[in-house]
Amino acid sequence: MPPLRARLATVALVLLALLAAPSVAAAQRTAESISARTAAALERSPVVVDPPYDNVITPAAERRLVRKIETNGKPILMALVPLVEGDQFGGEARPFVATLRDRLGRDGIYVAVDDRYLRVFEYRAGRSRYGGPADDAMTLANYAEENGTRSTTAYERTLLERAELFLDNLALPPAELEKRVARFESERDERIGYSTGDGGGSALGVVLVGIAVLLIVAILLRRRRNRSGARPAPRGLPVLPDRVFEHARAARRANLHEDADDELMKLSKLLDDQPVPQKPAAQDAYQRALDAYAAARRRTTGAEAPTVDLVGALVLVDHARNDLAAAVAIDAGRKPPKRPALCMFDPLHGRATRDVRWQRGKRKITVPACKACASAIKAGTAPDALRDGDQPYFERDTVWARTGFGTFDDDLVERVARGER
Ligand SMILES: [Zn+2]
Repeated sequence: MPPLRARLATVALVLLALLAAPSVAAAQRTAESISARTAAALERSPVVVDPPYDNVITPAAERRLVRKIETNGKPILMALVPLVEGDQFGGEARPFVATLRDRLGRDGIYVAVDDRYLRVFEYRAGRSRYGGPADDAMTLANYAEENGTRSTTAYERTLLERAELFLDNLALPPAELEKRVARFESERDERIGYSTGDGGGSALGVVLVGIAVLLIVAILLRRRRNRSGARPAPRGLPVLPDRVFEHARAARRANLHEDADDELMKLSKLLDDQPVPQKPAAQDAYQRALDAYAAARRRTTGAEAPTVDLVGALVLVDHARNDLAAAVAIDAGRKPPKRPALCMFDPLHGRATRDVRWQRGKRKITVPACKACASAIKAGTAPDALRDGDQPYFERDTVWARTGFGTFDDDLVERVARGER
């Protein structure tokens, strides 16, 4: 028997550990072991399945996935591991996969799970590659029918079905995969009321598509409510959090594309989760959010989107989130939130902290600026403005320059949605 004092000390230590074990530290330890465990398991097999997904993905199904990967011949690594909010990855697939990639130290097509959807990240020569066939195969597996047409049932798909579809899609000849993605994207554009290119859509057509969209959304929402009870309105900031801008500012161009893509993905979930607004003003706000989403998505399509377009896409997402929050507030009889301005000189500087007088062409105007830019202007020096080619972006002739990313006028969303370049 240990002396009483030692036993008391042990009890006290255990109690302390129980009381003091902060859930964050616990979550970090778990997350750490999740990435270590997953990386170790990926060394042995290209498919790793963790609880609770192993309930739906039987060992036989897992072997089927492994065989498909072997047949395919591409370096695919599938980590079907649940990520939870509050862990060291913030429940997000991208940092999780980045850690896996670092641990394994090899390129490949990494597949992870984000909520119910697959997320795919491709690394070549240590750098992430954006917008390739793996991306297309993921989009189709998450959102489209097998032949690439729009799907209202893709939502119901299980994780296993998505994983199998992804591998099947990736095994398609590239031309066929491209054709299916093009078909899906043009249908999606139509669905969100975005006419593609030749301006052939009549006003009646647009109205009909709009009604169809509302019907589909209403049906989907009803189905989901029936299944899971009433949906709470989405929580969180009504605009993009500061860390998004900080991360984007630090990011290399390729990562900036990923940041924009990530935020668009999150926005599309928010749009999906939000109940259809009731009051006309709330419906207008919701429609503006849809327009901003569609416009941002168009500007980020293709691997060669210029930096200003990627920054513009983040600004549009910021607008869209504010409009969604406005729709909720209006329906609840509250005052809609005002979107806090971003630094006009470079939206990636984050929220403006003051207004400054600035010479724009022949006129002096007041613009919102971050602290650093405001100080530069005050000191009579050039602020650290976002570059577009070899000039500050506002000296070029683009919709971003003409609107100051929405600072000079409040019709940024409309102008970009109209296709103004
Ligand atoms: Zn600034």
